[in-house]
Amino acid sequence: MLGEMKRRDFLACAGVGALGLLARRLGAAEAGPRKPNVVVIVADDLGYADVGVHGCKDIPTPHIDSLAANGVRFTNGYVSCPVCSPTRAGLMTGRYQQRFGYEFNTGPPPGSLGEHVGLPLSETTIADALKAAGYATGAVGKWHLGMRPKYHPMKRGFDEFFGFQHGGHSYLKLAPDDYSPILRGTEPVHEQEYLTDAFSREAVAFIERRKAEPFFLYLAYNAVHTPMEATAKYLDRFKAIANPKRRTYAAMLAAMDDGIGRVLAALREAGIEENTLVVFFSDNGGPPAANASRNDPLRASKGTVYEGGIRVPFIVQWKAQLAAGKTYDQPVISLDVLPTALAAAGGKPPAERPLDGVNLLPFLKGAQATPPHESLFWRMGAQAAARKGNWKLVQARGGQAELYDLAADIGEKTDLAAQKPDVLKDLADALAKWQAELKEPLWGGPQRGKDPADKGRRNKGKK
Ligand code: CA
Repeated sequence: MLGEMKRRDFLACAGVGALGLLARRLGAAEAGPRKPNVVVIVADDLGYADVGVHGCKDIPTPHIDSLAANGVRFTNGYVSCPVCSPTRAGLMTGRYQQRFGYEFNTGPPPGSLGEHVGLPLSETTIADALKAAGYATGAVGKWHLGMRPKYHPMKRGFDEFFGFQHGGHSYLKLAPDDYSPILRGTEPVHEQEYLTDAFSREAVAFIERRKAEPFFLYLAYNAVHTPMEATAKYLDRFKAIANPKRRTYAAMLAAMDDGIGRVLAALREAGIEENTLVVFFSDNGGPPAANASRNDPLRASKGTVYEGGIRVPFIVQWKAQLAAGKTYDQPVISLDVLPTALAAAGGKPPAERPLDGVNLLPFLKGAQATPPHESLFWRMGAQAAARKGNWKLVQARGGQAELYDLAADIGEKTDLAAQKPDVLKDLADALAKWQAELKEPLWGGPQRGKDPADKGRRNKGKK
């Protein structure tokens, strides 16, 4: 009550001139509780098995684990593509990215530098939507949604950016180059810190800078993607790991986990952790050959539509609203992040087109007991998959459609296509209906061999 009086008196004295911003903020507070902050943290190529809460033994991930302890962990959490860039396009839009032709990775230059290679400007992003809801918006880390200036994050709804625009970057060689330098805003900078630490530093700085207003922070680490590079600070923790690649992977993951701890600490110190929706997931499954990640007990890896390519560590924490230490077992997908964040923010979804993602909050609060999605679908070139209930159809490159019962067979070992033709047909029909709604790929389309993720197809096509 006293606070209320003081605030009114203060406003009366301050007027709306020099202290207009403060007055507006206090005015918003009068209208209702402060909107929650939204922090979306994306890991890159993190293996399904490589977090403590999924049973990882050799690499501690206490801060990622703390999100699960304080929030909800998805046991059937998916991304919309088994490679980096299309997953980000789906995350940014809440829509299956193939609806607007974003089916493939952007690949290496020069192809990735094309005018048309990037998140189509006709799409509204999660940052656009949250900005419209009054949020300060910042992106830190890997962008991978177009190299041209028109695709830069600050043209796609973000007030601030620190990171790089392409799909990968050295963690140690950080002098500006012509191709994909580290940028602060649009200016190349010569970063001095280990890149993962630099991203954590910038994320913390964003929180400290913006803590007085509702904000959206998109923190997209390129850890634990190749190149395999780490510093002694982290490598020294893993002397017990004999395999040098796994040891480096462990060090890279530890740096990211430490960084997530720094971000959570910054929220706590600012007194806003309770009312911040934090989302964490990996953009695709681990590629064991490249980075020594592990996806067990899932089948296969990054680049495939088996579970090892698309089912990922996926956790949400919102202490003020969601119960702690729960798991949620119905299938969810990274497309759900936009509608969920927007619902938390009290914003309206982009009206001009349907979203595929759904607001998960009623489901996580137990207000809705049905599954959020009747079906989920994937397609990347010749590969496709559909999930409905516990059934999953997998169309691998060049093979017959396979059918798995994920409830009994999470490792997709027993193909039941021949035993369950009716189930197979039901999923195949649903998949065909979905595919009929998709656009031709904007790049790597009919000549899909251009796409690095489609190397198998390219080789197959060679006479
Ligand atoms: Ca990735």
